[in-house]
Amino acid sequence: MNILKLAIDENEERAVVDAIRSGQIAQGKRVAEFEEKFSEYCGSKYAIAVSNGTAALHTALFAADVKSGDLVVTTPFTFIATANSILMQGARPVFVDIDPVTFNLDVNKVEQHIVDSAKAILTVDLYGLMTNYNELNSICKRHGIVCIEDAAQSVGASYSGKRAGGVADLAAFSFYATKNLTTGEGGMVTTNNEEYAKKMRSFRHHGQGNEAYLYSHLAYNYRMTDIEASIGLCQLKKLENNNAARRSTASYYIEYLKSCPDIVLPTEPQGSSHVYHQFTIRVLNGKRDELAKFLSDNGVPSRVYYPSPVYFAKHFHDMGYKKGLCPIAEKTCAEVLSLPIYPNVPEEDMEKIMMTIRKFYGVRS
Ligand SMILES: *Cc1c(COP(=O)(O)O)cnc(C)c1O
Repeated sequence: MNILKLAIDENEERAVVDAIRSGQIAQGKRVAEFEEKFSEYCGSKYAIAVSNGTAALHTALFAADVKSGDLVVTTPFTFIATANSILMQGARPVFVDIDPVTFNLDVNKVEQHIVDSAKAILTVDLYGLMTNYNELNSICKRHGIVCIEDAAQSVGASYSGKRAGGVADLAAFSFYATKNLTTGEGGMVTTNNEEYAKKMRSFRHHGQGNEAYLYSHLAYNYRMTDIEASIGLCQLKKLENNNAARRSTASYYIEYLKSCPDIVLPTEPQGSSHVYHQFTIRVLNGKRDELAKFLSDNGVPSRVYYPSPVYFAKHFHDMGYKKGLCPIAEKTCAEVLSLPIYPNVPEEDMEKIMMTIRKFYGVRS
């Protein structure tokens, strides 16, 4: 049984061949077209394509003028790239605990952590569910700081009628192979701010401005290739269908699992549309690892995203971040289990996964 499966077919194959035969394989017109279509889709004025999601986060933080000595409020319950990107600009993360129901930053705890040196909030739409941006945006406005969305897992999700990439000051996407929209490796930053857009176009190209070979600061080569963009354009066309297929698998799981004791199912708050990058349950009473093993013994793959909060990593530990900092995130790390999800999981697989979990709990089918 697969835990995930690429949604790539002959459309992408043809597009890649066309891109190669065009002779323009580095950043060219396909990247420009992908940026245009992507910003249109997200409802943002600008989109800047980059080489991966980590580069997108780094580029967004640079645009927000996050630098050495600054603090960035963020979640510890995420992939390491979120927190590392803050270090890449010489700033320090301030980890705020999560809401165990949405798995996202607990917006009620954010404001008490905002001090003078806080420059931005970097929130993550974990597993494909957007954060509460009404609340977060108003906190940012009140304190004059920048709201940045790590939308690596939430492409196509919406909140209060707006899509990921269209609500925060800046949003960073990843198109890594496992994400809901993939180009193999790739990323994008969206914004409505023209100044930010200009800075970011320069940042991905060694800081070059309007004039060739004139540079003013350290920047990087974070460009996307036309080969990647050609895949991205195909993937964008399928995104709505693919996300709908993920949502339908999620509904199936929820329907079957709601009678299981000791399992907390993912939620979709009023006004939100979840794109289920992961379908992640919380297994209570210390039974997570036991359930994972039972599933594995019965031929059902599962994964733990994430086994520990990011500040358990050695380099964060060495900076002074200690165990106990975000107790809810730490507890959640021991409870989460992600089940197979991708567009169009075969019915017999879905059935087997559900039966196996119900068997573990002794729930009759
Ligand atoms: C995948 C991911 C990233 C990093 O993206 P890459 O393209 O792998 O660099 C950052 N944040 C989150 C939440 C992710 O899931």
